[in-house]
Amino acid sequence: MMRTSQTNAPGPGRPATDGEFARRLRSAVRGEVMFDAASRGRYATDASIYQVEPVGVLVPASHDDVRAALDVCRSLRVPVLPRGAGSSQCGQTVGAALVIDHSKHLNRVLAFDRDAMEVTVEPGLVLDTLNAWLRPHGLWFPVDVSTSAQCTLGGMAGNNSCGSRSIAYGNMVHNVAAIDALLADGSEGRFGPEADMAQAPSRLREIARALRAIGERHRDEIEARVPKVMRRVGGYNLDVFHPQSERPYTADGSVNYAHLLVGSEGTLAWTKSLTLKLGALPRHRALGVVNFPSLYRAMECAQPIVKLAPSAVELVDRTMIDLARGNPAFRPVIDAALFGEPAAILLVEFTADEAEGPLRQLARLVELMGELGLPGSVVPLTDAAAQKALWEVRKAGLNIMMSMKGDGKPVSFIEDCAVPLAHLAEYVDRLSQVFAKHGTRGTWYAHASVGTLHVRPILDMRRDGAAKMRAIAEEAAAMVREYKGAFSGEHGDGLVRTERVAWQFGPVLTQAFEEVKALFDPDNLMNPGKIVRGTRMDDASLFRFPPGHRVVPIATALDWAAWDVHNDPVRDELTAPGTGGDPAHGFAKAVEMCNNNGHCRKFDAGTMCPSYRVTRDEEHSTRGRANTLRLALSGQLGGEFASPAVREALDLCVSCKGCRRDCPTGVDMAKMKVEFNRHWQQRHGVAFKERVVASLPRWAPWAARLPWLANLRDTVPGLARLGERAFGFDARRTLPRWRADTFLASAAARGPTDADADVVLLVDTFSNYFEPENAHAALAVLRAAGLRVAVARASASDPAPSRPLCCGRTYLGAGLVDEAKREARRLVDALVPHIARGATVVGLEPSCLLGLRDEYLVMGLGEDAQRLAPRALLIEEFLAREHRAGRLSLPLAPLPQKGALLHGHCHQKAFDTMGSAVDVLRMVPELQVEVIESSCCGMAGSFGYEARHYDVSMKMAETALLPSVRAADVGTLIVADGTSCRHQIADGTRGAAPREALHLVRVLEQSLAAAKQG
Ligand SMILES: Cc1cc2nc3c(=O)[nH]c(=O)nc-3n(C[C@H](O)[C@H](O)[C@H](O)COP(=O)(O)OP(=O)(O)OC[C@H]3O[C@@H](n4cnc5c(N)ncnc54)[C@H](O)[C@@H]3O)c2cc1C
Ligand code: SF4
Ligand code: SF4
Repeated sequence: MMRTSQTNAPGPGRPATDGEFARRLRSAVRGEVMFDAASRGRYATDASIYQVEPVGVLVPASHDDVRAALDVCRSLRVPVLPRGAGSSQCGQTVGAALVIDHSKHLNRVLAFDRDAMEVTVEPGLVLDTLNAWLRPHGLWFPVDVSTSAQCTLGGMAGNNSCGSRSIAYGNMVHNVAAIDALLADGSEGRFGPEADMAQAPSRLREIARALRAIGERHRDEIEARVPKVMRRVGGYNLDVFHPQSERPYTADGSVNYAHLLVGSEGTLAWTKSLTLKLGALPRHRALGVVNFPSLYRAMECAQPIVKLAPSAVELVDRTMIDLARGNPAFRPVIDAALFGEPAAILLVEFTADEAEGPLRQLARLVELMGELGLPGSVVPLTDAAAQKALWEVRKAGLNIMMSMKGDGKPVSFIEDCAVPLAHLAEYVDRLSQVFAKHGTRGTWYAHASVGTLHVRPILDMRRDGAAKMRAIAEEAAAMVREYKGAFSGEHGDGLVRTERVAWQFGPVLTQAFEEVKALFDPDNLMNPGKIVRGTRMDDASLFRFPPGHRVVPIATALDWAAWDVHNDPVRDELTAPGTGGDPAHGFAKAVEMCNNNGHCRKFDAGTMCPSYRVTRDEEHSTRGRANTLRLALSGQLGGEFASPAVREALDLCVSCKGCRRDCPTGVDMAKMKVEFNRHWQQRHGVAFKERVVASLPRWAPWAARLPWLANLRDTVPGLARLGERAFGFDARRTLPRWRADTFLASAAARGPTDADADVVLLVDTFSNYFEPENAHAALAVLRAAGLRVAVARASASDPAPSRPLCCGRTYLGAGLVDEAKREARRLVDALVPHIARGATVVGLEPSCLLGLRDEYLVMGLGEDAQRLAPRALLIEEFLAREHRAGRLSLPLAPLPQKGALLHGHCHQKAFDTMGSAVDVLRMVPELQVEVIESSCCGMAGSFGYEARHYDVSMKMAETALLPSVRAADVGTLIVADGTSCRHQIADGTRGAAPREALHLVRVLEQSLAAAKQG
């Protein structure tokens, strides 16, 4: 069962019985209440190294729910832990408490005052969502943390978060005007400017008076012990009464009581709403990327650069540069910012309202670097898109670093020490030596402007990591003290640093913090064990991967050996695949790549994660799934690996592979789902309905012989309902129509196989049986380009040479890996002779063709599959490649339609082929191509047809795809290369204004026809 720690629970910790607590909670609230092991397990971790099982989880439907839950918790003495995205790095959001996740429902903008430049929001609102809402007003909330896509305003206030531009805008605390809070004893009210506290309820006035008294009493200690640096987020902000930072809390020096709640990590009160100060969106920005020969020089130069008044100075070191280069999406972006092979770069940003301002400052930077002995070291970036792309690389910095395979991981515990700029270079140098002494190394990046450099030494917490962590922390702390810095300059205290609070602030202020806690929360109910009365950072009973962490041995169907490795942090080397000692042959280690940063909870462009976007349930995020798998694989859910809890968590995963690309550590849940389904099927058998769908390629030839019979379901009233019961296909769906004129039976396809073919056209099951016109169009386009084309057919040695080839995707989706392998083997055997001659394999359906470059490499198909992968291209990739090389000549003419709206299949996005699709469509003269910013269409193979998934499927389609299609002019072509995407578009627009989407080759075919006619 899951490890449980009581160390940070107050008093009795758990209620007399979970049963009584659960019963009372359920009757008191409308929201979701979860006490099952898997749900508790999913809320037992955040982006820290810790894991503590919560008592239960509440997803409140309203503030009333929170109030009611607090009442129940108070009467049964159960602690409460407020939670947003759970992206904290220090263990702030793990604890033996009732976790209240308000990110799902409590996320509205409550009030907006444009003139006062203030907005009041609920705590679960995500920062990027707020900023998207503010953009039309020319405003933004400028605390631009790296996790902006997922972190919530309530969590940001809880941690006193700060962003890359804190030198210009300060931390969260500088940007919060008021907090409406709910206290553990049930009292409520607004904490705000001191002048307004007279109107507050008596309990709040009492607290304010007492706080003021504490502040006055400890004035000297505050002056002596609170670090003077701009970045300091440890302890409670008692220095609001005697500000110590160079940046004052308020412009006029007055006291605002909300600032004591900011950074309190949910230990004082529950934030019901926050009033935030907004900034005007900077109208013009320029970025200078300064290239340095050494990290030391970069740090030395930070101080003079800051004097130029930039809005940000961010460091990216050599390791990070190399890791970013390893990511295909980031490589061109980072390369454009470099001169040669710098050891480090500083991203220096200037902003202003008038266009000339940033350019003038950029010129000053160039001059300054010359004066500092580094002429020609600045790459200027004035284009907004280029700047944004480079900021994305910097923002992904930590995650890029976390993509390291093996048990040694970069661990966050001295990640955000802040030292005055004058000492930064020396600090970096000395700390690097400390790392070397302990047999590890760190990667440096982030906020050089404010002396907060992120660094995580690579430690193996399952082995000697805890001891090294303590030793390194002690030495880092001594340096921080010497330089008069702050041990926590950004991420807060949580479980990892509460023990440092006394070290940083001394016994008197530590006692004063205890008094603050007692004033707000005398019964120690609010997130106990953080900031005051904490545990030791190296208490292994709280680790996610403690020494002795065990993994259930399983035999895997796919090859996960690439993850089954050890890493050597100093030499930056991995051992050979399969040597990592994983009893699950690398599968467990692949699952453990999820570091819980929560990026899969984002809502921006990109694919990941469509099911979370629709349900907003942690369970349906990639993280929730990875955690469920991890817990099951380590026996922490009780029972076996193939458990219903995992099956449930994976149920709404549409295998879109969005995570494969968008997850910074490359968690590929679609592949993991295949592996899990296989174990499930082995244990529980294959349901009839699933078998029917999976074996479509087997029975398709029979259905195609009697298409009128196979199509009856959509024509005879009542049959769809019956079919829903028998096969699980939702009666509201139409099914793809079987065709008598299948492609492979056509004369065009039957033509002699060209032994010297340049191209082998792989016609998938769907194109062959349901949309043969697409395959005809592909053939026509390729031949019009003067290419010799062969149609892929089973090899002569195939046991069923007349049965069409199939990639095996439908089998894989059901976890029938052996059957999928058989199909794959046939396909590989058929194609290998062609590629041996130098031909390229070209396919139409993204999910089929791209499988050859993905799953085929882990299905035990040997060398042949490795050779085939780089020679297998989607038709748009092939045409774009030939076009770029000047080898393609297609006589294309303008079409009557002047616009094309392109929806990308998820696998096209995951494999970065959308650029090719756009390039190819743009070959059509005068055609304006626009890409729909959509995630998964929701159909995803058979997913959307299934009655139990229909509603979720349609919601996915309605998040972006269908509204964009409906809004498109009737004269605009809708283009989608995925069979299921096209079907979803047709189904979703059925009725008054139906729209049909075309495969891109059909557009080319029409353009060729127009050329012929014209
Ligand atoms: C890859 C990565 C990059 C990061 N980059 C940055 C960065 O650039 N700058 C930065 O400052 N941080 C950064 N962080 C840390 C973290 O993302 C931020 O602190 C973030 O603001 C936390 O938001 P959240 O919604 O995840 O809060 P959570 O982690 O859910 O909660 C944070 C704290 O706030 C408390 N809390 C949440 N809601 C409430 C409420 N309603 N009432 C009372 N207390 C509440 C919680 O109890 C907890 O103590 C990073 C983390 C990761 C993993
Ligand atoms: S699945 Fe990926 S994006 Fe999601 S939390 Fe884990 S590592 Fe982050
Ligand atoms: S494959 Fe798609 S649906 Fe599944 S977890 Fe990844 S992003 Fe989410």
